[in-house]
Amino acid sequence: MASAPFTVSQERKIVTELPGPKSRELHELRRRVVSRGAGTLADIYMDHGSGAILVDVDGNQIIDLGCGIGVTTIGHAHPAIAAAAAEQAGKLTHTLFTVTPYENYLRVAEKLAEITPGDFEKHSILVNSGAEAVENAVKIARKFTGRRAIAALDHAFHGRTNLTMAMTYRPWPERAGMGPFPGEIYSVPTSYPFRDPEGMTGLEAAERTIDYINTHIGATELAALFVEPIQGDGGIVIPADGFFQRLSEFCTENGIVFVADEIQAGIARSGAWYSIEHSGVVPDLITSAKGIAGGFPLAAVTGRAEIMDAVQPGGIGGTFGGNPVSTAAALAVFRLIEEENLIAEAQRVEKAFFARMGDWASKYAVVGEVRGKGCMFGVELVHPGTRTPNPEALSAVIKHATSNGVIVLDAGSWDSVLRFLPSVVISDELIDDAATVIEEALQALEP
Ligand SMILES: *Cc1c(COP(=O)(O)O)cnc(C)c1O
Repeated sequence: MASAPFTVSQERKIVTELPGPKSRELHELRRRVVSRGAGTLADIYMDHGSGAILVDVDGNQIIDLGCGIGVTTIGHAHPAIAAAAAEQAGKLTHTLFTVTPYENYLRVAEKLAEITPGDFEKHSILVNSGAEAVENAVKIARKFTGRRAIAALDHAFHGRTNLTMAMTYRPWPERAGMGPFPGEIYSVPTSYPFRDPEGMTGLEAAERTIDYINTHIGATELAALFVEPIQGDGGIVIPADGFFQRLSEFCTENGIVFVADEIQAGIARSGAWYSIEHSGVVPDLITSAKGIAGGFPLAAVTGRAEIMDAVQPGGIGGTFGGNPVSTAAALAVFRLIEEENLIAEAQRVEKAFFARMGDWASKYAVVGEVRGKGCMFGVELVHPGTRTPNPEALSAVIKHATSNGVIVLDAGSWDSVLRFLPSVVISDELIDDAATVIEEALQALEP
């Protein structure tokens, strides 16, 4: 186990009904002052946290299998992150790197060059959010290639800005009614082993993607292909072996920039610094965000120096990008991952989840498949005896879990994948307890 100094006991403890009275009171205020568009998964208002436990305003201790969608990978409120951020906040909070620079920004870029795959010179730009990183990767790839078309995979999630909405696969709820979207964005087939024809290999799936690109876009028109090596919002979809290898070769042969969007799967979450490492592929550009700064807003585009430097000075940037406090927190995250061996901890969590939940597809009629890597798990729910997505079952499981003190996430283009993105510091005991709660819900759905 990592030596994280927890300030809250690592156990589930429910002292009121959920949501409790104080949460319900805050929720009334929320209805009066917050847009309905910012929907919430569980109306339980949080007060503090430590490790894998969140404590709500009514004093309930809740197991967090979501990490605010994969952000607090190193655990909640780690004292080392709090100290690094507080020290920086007392020293300097802003200058704007493109007006007068500071060292933290350089140190984060230096570290990103070291931990991203590829043995060549790499440059970075730091921004505020995942979507902003994806947008910048699009700009950089277009400028470098002189081409306009951008391809993203089916079931992709790349963000909620206008450009990244166009690259995000499903219309509901992310895009509906909010167009028009920019042109020259294409969705191309991916490899989704559970839903592809039985026995389809990664190579065959890649040839299908390539054929689609050739017949719908034209390889010489394509500036960049964006992939999530493990799709997060798409439902923890892990393509078949060989898929990314073949796509990456195709991109190299045709002058297409291969971009790995590692915003959810990167920074130790998958049991490697970056999830593309599991396939041995070296991308031209990588986007990082979510887990990079322990909850502080920070994102990055990192990649081949000649591609990153294709943009004229002033062509990319932004007021808050690479903020001194966020970068101080990121440097503390990088240190913790190395000093506490948190990549190995992510691998331990993977083993513990599979040991406890790996057989659910044979035990429960609504479970079609259990899949995952590191601290990313998906349980695809189906109608018994079929592969037809079962979103009603997912709602029932989420409702039961959250009202019993286990935060879980939804995912998938059909809203039928139960998603877990726990912290690497979650104990085997907490995994067991959370699994017991979820099994009660699965049991109740037995025909
Ligand atoms: C969350 C996410 C984004 C968008 O990041 P924001 O910080 O929410 O803008 C983009 N790509 C992937 C893969 C993500 O998981």
